[in-house]
Amino acid sequence: MPKKKLSEYYAKRDLASSGEPAAGRSGSRHPRFVVQRHDARSLHFDFRLEIGDVLVSWSVPKGPSLDPRDRRLAVRTEDHPLDYADFEGRIPADDYGGGTVVVWDVGTFDNLNETTMATSLDAGHLRVRLHGEKLTGAFSLVRTGLRGGREQWLLFKKDDEGADRRRKPAVTQPESVLTGKTNEDFES
Ligand code: MN
Repeated sequence: MPKKKLSEYYAKRDLASSGEPAAGRSGSRHPRFVVQRHDARSLHFDFRLEIGDVLVSWSVPKGPSLDPRDRRLAVRTEDHPLDYADFEGRIPADDYGGGTVVVWDVGTFDNLNETTMATSLDAGHLRVRLHGEKLTGAFSLVRTGLRGGREQWLLFKKDDEGADRRRKPAVTQPESVLTGKTNEDFES
């Protein structure tokens, strides 16, 4: 049930203060992914996939890479409500995740596994094809273990037409795909 899945999300936040969304929409036929650039205590990218009625989420310190040789650490974090995919702005410093958020990339995705996304998530091996602006083509997420109570995963690009060993969008394209704003634009 969405309520239960989001209990950690709600427990950590005061939504009236932070301005972040509560659960609204339920799952769609064309599931969405979003990557949010979150300049908080440390800069990271939040990679989220719509699975069922929530955005299953990972924190990726270095952001996704288009180079198939790269393996990016992705630490599983709490599920977020679907409406979070449109959220950008400033979370007050004293709130959980205090800092600024921009929608770094967003789009739909296809499940490339034979099994459902929920089953693949449990099994610790997801394969998806992303249809974003900065990220396109197949990516894999593989669970490698547990550390400090958090699932550790690796995110990597499959070598296909969306791969690019030179382009480094996590470094050279920090801006929002929705508004063109940067994290700095939301400060103050
Ligand atoms: Mn975050």
